[in-house]
Formats: sequence, C-alpha cells, structure tokens
Amino acid sequence: MNIRYKSTRNSDITVTASQAILKGLADDGGLFVPERIPKLSVSVDELKGMTYQETAYAVMKEFLTDFTEEELKDCICKAYDAKFDTDEIAPLAKVDDTYYLELFHGATIAFKDMALSILPHLLTTSAKKNQVQNEIVILTATSGDTGKAAMAGFADVEGTRIIVFYPKNGVSKVQELQMVTQKGKNVAVVAIHGNFDNAQSGVKALFENKELGKELEACGYQFSSANSINIGRLVPQVVYYVYAYAKLLENEQIQSGEIINVVVPTGNFGNILAAYYAKQMGIPIGKLICASNENKVLFDFFQTGTYDKKHREFVLTTSPSMDILISSNLERLIYQAAGCDDGRNRELMRALNEEGVYQITEDMKAELKDFEAGYASEKQTADTIREVYEETGYVMDTHTAVAAFVCREYRNRTKDTAKCVVASTASPYKFVKSVMTAIDENYGDKDEFPLLEELKRVSGTELPGAIKEILNADILHTLECDVDNMEQTVRNLLNL
Ligand SMILES: *Cc1c(COP(=O)(O)O)cnc(C)c1O
Repeated sequence: MNIRYKSTRNSDITVTASQAILKGLADDGGLFVPERIPKLSVSVDELKGMTYQETAYAVMKEFLTDFTEEELKDCICKAYDAKFDTDEIAPLAKVDDTYYLELFHGATIAFKDMALSILPHLLTTSAKKNQVQNEIVILTATSGDTGKAAMAGFADVEGTRIIVFYPKNGVSKVQELQMVTQKGKNVAVVAIHGNFDNAQSGVKALFENKELGKELEACGYQFSSANSINIGRLVPQVVYYVYAYAKLLENEQIQSGEIINVVVPTGNFGNILAAYYAKQMGIPIGKLICASNENKVLFDFFQTGTYDKKHREFVLTTSPSMDILISSNLERLIYQAAGCDDGRNRELMRALNEEGVYQITEDMKAELKDFEAGYASEKQTADTIREVYEETGYVMDTHTAVAAFVCREYRNRTKDTAKCVVASTASPYKFVKSVMTAIDENYGDKDEFPLLEELKRVSGTELPGAIKEILNADILHTLECDVDNMEQTVRNLLNL
C-alpha cells in the first residue's frame, strides 16, 4: 500500500517518501512522519534466516513505497557491503544475560553508519525520481558521529556536497581526527565555537532561512539534511531491531512471539524511535527503555511529562554523542501521542522554542506507556564498563555502557524478566580514552593513541580499519567559526 508523509506541524500537505527524503525537514519546520506505520508483510518466522540485506528490503519497502523494487534493492546492496567488517552487518553478542546488538561494524565504527551508508543512495535515487537538477547540499550538525558517517557516505557522490558543523571542544580526539582527515572534493567540515545544540539550532535556522533558500536555488543548489530528522535515516534504523528479533529466534534464544525489551542509549531520539516503529510494525517488543547520560532531559520528561531544557546546565560527558538537550526526533513521538493533531504539536514546539519548556497532558502521557527511562551518571557509566569487563571480558564503549547500566537498573527495579537487547552504538576504540580510564584509572594520564594498542590487548579484538586509517592521515580541514557566523561560512563555501 502506498504511504505518504506529512509534516508534524501541518497534516494537510502530504509528500511521497522520496520527496520527504529530498527535503529532510518540512517547509514549516516540522518533521515528516508516515501517515501510518505500516505492518510487516512477512511473519517473524519468515524473517528467521534472512540476511541483513533481505531484512532491510522487507522493512524498507513498507515505508518507501514510491521506490521500485530494483531501486531499493540497489540502494541496499550498495550500502550494506564490504564496508562492514562482518557479513552479519549487525551482530548480536550475548554477554551474561544481555544481548548487545553491535551497530558499529561499519566504516566509521558507530551506529550512524547503519543509516548513513544508505542515505546517499536513497537521496540520489530520490533526486532522479523527482527530476531534481540542483546540486544537493547536505548540511549537518554533529555531536561527533553523524558528521564523519555522513561525510564517509557522501564523499565524492555525484550531484552532492556536504558541509558538517561540529562543536570544537565537544568531540573525542578520534572523532575529530576522523572528520578533519576526510577525503573527497565535495566535503567541508567546520568546528564551531559552541556546543552541539548551538550547531543544531544554527543548521535548523539555515534551513528555515527563506532568503538563503532563494539564493541557493538561483545558483543551482538546494539543501538537504543527513541528520536523524531525515526520514531516510530513520527508516533504515528500523531494520536492525527487526533483524535482532529474527536472530534471537533463529538462535533459539526466544520462542516465536516472545516479548523482548530494547534499551537504547539516546540523544536525538532517532534510534529509539526506530525501535518504536519496529514495534508498531509487529515486532514483539515490550518496553522501549530510553537511556540518558547526565544530560537527562528525556529521563525527566518521561517521569514528569514536562520537557524542560531551560532550567538545566548542559554537561559535557564521556558519552558526547548523547550530550543533547533538544532531542529533535521526540517531536515525532509527541505528534503521535497528541493523536496526530498538528495544532497541538505546533503549540508545544513553539513553547519549546520560545520558552524552552513544554508540558504534555495526562492523556498524551498515557500514550507513552511503552517507554521507560533511566540515566547513568559518569561514575555509573565507568563502573559498568569496568564491571562487565572484569566479569566477562567484554569491553563496551561509554554510550553502550549508559544503556547497560540503565538496563540493569530497570531489571532490578521492576523484576521484569523479559530478555533485553541493548543497542551497542559505538566501538570502544572510538572512545578509547574514556573506556580505558574506566577499566583502570592509571590510563588517565596516557595519550589516546598508545591506548589503542592497550585496548586491543585487553579486549582481544582487532584494531578496526577506521582506526588504522586515521593514524597516519593528513589533516585536510581546519576551518572554524563562531556560532553566529555559520550562515556566512556556508555562503563562503558555496561562493554565494
Ligand atoms: C548518535 C549516537 C547516539 C544517540 O542516538 P540518537 O538516535 O541520536 O538518539 C548514541 N550513541 C552513539 C555512539 C551515537 O553516535
């Protein structure tokens, strides 16, 4: 069946999937949502034994209904190939009584690869389908992982350019090096003097700048987004929850129909929303457990129904990809909880924008009963890494550890015995300093690079290709700018 997309701030206008992918954000500043969440047309038993690529097709064809079978299969095939260091693409590691869905086996060793390996193909296919002649300029704010994954995905993709903004002091050394060494004649990366929310707000303002939009059009450009607000990123993320369930079934870890819980280390709320979509497609998921670090705006929201980014300090943590106070994708959930009432959602988002806080009603809160929330302090995160390592030998990254802590805490608190899948969102190599310091604080004085070898030794794993690559690479990007100078920087880069 055909699925169209509408904005969370205006239900009247609908567009096709390919148009939604091209635009990224709706003209009214809202996010595109499918008119309804489609059901899977295959049973979970049929999913058993499917490859990742086959599962991806079974899921994505339900959402991207204006893509032909050939187009979609071609995108999937180009995305999930030897760039991943395992044929399974997203392996499930059983550690004690918990399953870690390892989403970090792609080109940049964080879960953003799962969606950003395919987005460029979805986007260029969408451009062709809609007779777009303009060059597409991907504009992206990153808290570290998106930027590199997007650049890796878009580098030298014909008909596209990409400009990435990251917070100068808000990313790890490995993350920064990964970005500033990125090759490709169509890529630019800029360090901003501010935090991730500044970068994200700045990018959003550029998208909403009508004047700039006109000038771009006149010069043969148009903006699109690689941020997780793009439906072309959200949909590929639904796949791995479906795949994880099928794998548990295939490996006889669960019975057919058995309910599992999913724990997701959350920042912009894209990944956990994809899990929610997987549930609505028919996968037997019980609770969606949202794990936050000390920037626990989401935890407080799920407890109280009040989203308040104003009365709190932004904290830099060892899980920087979750250092976020405005979780953009939450708007999609809010809209759904409001009964798809665009007016109600618009009012809440206006309040967030102007007052920095909004409160949902009791009836909306009741709609969120599938969600649970927890958070981990810096100490709890580090302790979890060390304890799991000491007990099992498994080394996880800081983001995953936030979720692992919240998972344990949830089970102890509720006595819920359902099996838990923890989304493991980054390789420990990417956050090697924090990970090694958690294992033994004596590592705290060492430089990041020698620690890579130490991590290799203690974990008994191979150095990932993405790490080997940056060890001797040249620095190609040194551009920096102030928060209020982002527009000018973009103009300069595009010669406007
Ligand atoms: C982006 C990211 C997250 C947060 O994911 P969202 O979809 O933004 O909630 C968590 N962990 C890592 C390693 C990430 O890169």
